[in-house]
Amino acid sequence: MSIESNIRTIQKQIEQACERSGRNPSEVTLVAVSKFHPWKAVREAAEAGLQFFGENRVQEAKLKIPQCPSSLHWHLIGHLQSNKCRDAVGLFEMIQSVDSWSLAEQINKAAEKRGSSLPILLEVNVAGEASKFGYSSETLPGDLLKLNDLSRLEIHGLMAIPPWTPQPEKARAHFRNLADLRKKCEDILQAPLPVLSMGMSSDFEVAIEEGSTIIRVGTAIFGERGRFPA
Ligand SMILES: *Cc1c(COP(=O)(O)O)cnc(C)c1O
Repeated sequence: MSIESNIRTIQKQIEQACERSGRNPSEVTLVAVSKFHPWKAVREAAEAGLQFFGENRVQEAKLKIPQCPSSLHWHLIGHLQSNKCRDAVGLFEMIQSVDSWSLAEQINKAAEKRGSSLPILLEVNVAGEASKFGYSSETLPGDLLKLNDLSRLEIHGLMAIPPWTPQPEKARAHFRNLADLRKKCEDILQAPLPVLSMGMSSDFEVAIEEGSTIIRVGTAIFGERGRFPA
């Protein structure tokens, strides 16, 4: 299957999931996760109409993004090391993977040096997995107000990567918990958090039914990832 036909299939699935849950498809942004795929694949996806792309490593993004059409919007979706904050702030329009207070401080500093500010999402480790980064649902609320005081960061919402499962229904409770946590955070901040980034190739339809506004889809668009970054 071509990248374009994969995208058309996914767009239909997005529409159907929105129909089932009484939502408007314009509320859901498809971010194409291009990690491990070459810039040519990105260009194909862009030619099929996609504008938002996600990468999980700064090093790979730094090589790839300059080769891609300059009109595209790039999100960082993987763990960021503090020594890469400066590069990340220059490359990405949004950092979805802010997973600790110390990282948030470092990104804020890097944005300040650059004279810019940056939309971010706070990553939540919804299943408490040892292998994953992110705030726990318990610790995030306590950090929210001081995160909100970082003048160069704009908190747009929350992001989560539930445990992978071939049965998408198993992810539903995690998506619902993230949506509940968002409400709690909005109460604390007394401000809307419009973005819920949840749902990947295997479970984006369930995520949309639970209120996702950004889905991050790699394999279903580009096929299996190679072993090494392209
Ligand atoms: C790789 C990745 C994705 C995409 O995963 P697929 O299963 O290939 O759709 C989404 N989100 C994050 C954070 C990722 O690292």
